[in-house]
Amino acid sequence: MARMDRPIPKFPEPDTEPFWDATKDHELKYQVCDDCGGIVWHPRRHCTHCTSLNLSWKTSKGEGTVYTYSIVRQNYHPAFRERIPYVIAWIDLDEGFRMLSNVVDVDPESVSVGQRVRVRWNDQEGLSLPEFTPA
Ligand SMILES: [Zn+2]
Repeated sequence: MARMDRPIPKFPEPDTEPFWDATKDHELKYQVCDDCGGIVWHPRRHCTHCTSLNLSWKTSKGEGTVYTYSIVRQNYHPAFRERIPYVIAWIDLDEGFRMLSNVVDVDPESVSVGQRVRVRWNDQEGLSLPEFTPA
């Protein structure tokens, strides 16, 4: 298990806690509106399409495509300083939502827009962080 050396969510956090609970089982959850069918990301209490409070949790397969990315070459936060250079990317999951994450275990210069990636879990104390690797 990795050291608790980077910022992580603090609980209780009613809107996102079910998401973080699922990460302990390495499940990437997202929400779908029961009333309009809209996909809601990031986790929250209401539908961003119709404001309904009737949302259901679904499990993503964790596969997607790099929409865009940036290579971080400078970071003064102690938890991230040793990771540079690293990739921050918007990932389009196949289920239809876009999430911000990292592409890891890869030469940052080899990441490209449109690249297929899949989720990989970075276990922390009490939760796991979804990161992505080339598929
Ligand atoms: Zn809705």
